[in-house]
Amino acid sequence: MRATNLYAPTLRQTPADAEILSHQLMLRAGMMRKSANGMYHFLPLGWRTIRKIEQIIREEMDAAGGQEMCMPILQPAEYWQESGRWAVYGAEMMRMKDRHGHEYCLGPTHEEMITSLVRDEVRSYKQLPLMLYQIQDKFRDERRPRFGLMRSREFIMKDLYSFDKDVEGMNLSYRKMYDAYTAIFSRCGLEFRPVEADNGAIGGGHSHEFTVLADAGESSIACCTKCDYAASDEKAELAPVEAPDEEPRELEKVATPGTNTIESLVSFLNIPIEKTIKAVAYETEQNALVLVFVRGDHEVNEVKVLHQLEGVLELRMAEEETIRAAGGCPGFMSPIGIKKGTHILVDPTVMNMKNAVSGANETDFHYKNVNPSRDFKDVVVADLRLVREGDPCPHCGAPVKMTRGIEVGQVFALGTKYSAAMGATFLNEQGKEKPLVMGCYGIGVGRTMAAAIEQSNDEHGIIWSRSIAPFEVVVVPVNGKNEEQLRYAEEVYGELKKAGVDVLLDDRPERPGVKFKDCDLIGYPLRLTIGPKTLEEGTLEVKIRKTGEMFHETRENYLGKVQELLKTL
Ligand SMILES: [Zn+2]
Repeated sequence: MRATNLYAPTLRQTPADAEILSHQLMLRAGMMRKSANGMYHFLPLGWRTIRKIEQIIREEMDAAGGQEMCMPILQPAEYWQESGRWAVYGAEMMRMKDRHGHEYCLGPTHEEMITSLVRDEVRSYKQLPLMLYQIQDKFRDERRPRFGLMRSREFIMKDLYSFDKDVEGMNLSYRKMYDAYTAIFSRCGLEFRPVEADNGAIGGGHSHEFTVLADAGESSIACCTKCDYAASDEKAELAPVEAPDEEPRELEKVATPGTNTIESLVSFLNIPIEKTIKAVAYETEQNALVLVFVRGDHEVNEVKVLHQLEGVLELRMAEEETIRAAGGCPGFMSPIGIKKGTHILVDPTVMNMKNAVSGANETDFHYKNVNPSRDFKDVVVADLRLVREGDPCPHCGAPVKMTRGIEVGQVFALGTKYSAAMGATFLNEQGKEKPLVMGCYGIGVGRTMAAAIEQSNDEHGIIWSRSIAPFEVVVVPVNGKNEEQLRYAEEVYGELKKAGVDVLLDDRPERPGVKFKDCDLIGYPLRLTIGPKTLEEGTLEVKIRKTGEMFHETRENYLGKVQELLKTL
């Protein structure tokens, strides 16, 4: 490819509406343009990177036994009604009607579509296992599209669905995908962690998110500092903290005027915060009160709370009248004296506490010498707290470190959630009818591109890994109007192409400064420069984008050197 033939309009200024670095750099490097809110054009350079990421994904999916196919983006509402998700998917689904009044959505995911397909075709265990995938646009009506490709309304996804005859088979498919994802993100040159994740709305069994470590990431993850345990903050399990042993004293109600926060209580009673019990009062969609108790210095993890409440999808802060109706008092809550039948959830760390302080369900009063294992009745004890830096790893006990990341892929063991709801069954070896056991596995292709940029850039622009760079090498004649330099550059360009290197010739009649700036901004891994001095010496100047290192190579040796360097970039 010649730059005079390339549509790559670079920008010197950072566009005002691009909030994060990857978005700014992709716009400036002429890789993408905004079409409308949350919708983007990929320009030729950006599309080359997308295609390279897709190719890596394809190769690894095929190697793991996947078969590529293509399903319609437009999906009939009936399938979603069968699975029960049409009613619960909410406002993020792009819905529409055709001229006959039939309802459709633009696919946010394809579990329903693929299940409806295979249920008519897969009849016997002999047809299993089966792995089908596609790489295609998905749609999500984000309330506030932002961060460029990170939260767009239309986005490219690879989605694979596995079908097995039993849970062991599903676990094997899951493992294959886990390993394939590890290979994909390694080949893309990314620093990432597979993170134990919560299942969210998709439901089913276990799940991992593949998260690229980057400060701009929206995911907060806990990584063990010793072993390879990593989990999203929503998921991270926490063992109960022991409390120092003390002789339990008698429960005592004390006046604590104006102490409706943990901070004010700690300073009024002059006690360590670890002696206090904090309450958070929620209300479900059905207006049921849910009281959650954690140690004073801990935070509640709402996802864990939701897991304790069957059939509840959302929580909101409780209204004062709901709390009062159950016998509680806002700011002074305790499980002691709450009306029977109220959901009371207590973190196990609280159950270990001795002679602690909690509210007394009365304004300006607290209980002292609360011994939860003695005093709390009719409570559900469950891990409810949010992980924080320094908490012990559930696998080895070493402290965890909190880092930020960008979720680029996820693997879900779905089980029979969709097959059972939609009647996708097969006959097993015993001739018995069984629901297919499924898994689903997604990769955000555009997000992977954005994450690579977030992770690897400097003040001059993007630094691509060779595997996903729009071009591996750029050849730059310093003076694009000098015939001798152009001819020499053409020859080098031809030699590289012949050797199978993905190369761009920057033959534009621009000033050298402009061309060099563009090279650094777009981030080609290697730049070969041809100028008057190199011509005189019969050499080329090689610049490694990643390190900034520059050196000269003879015409005889440069090709071998370029190929050798590319292997390391
Ligand atoms: Zn560990």
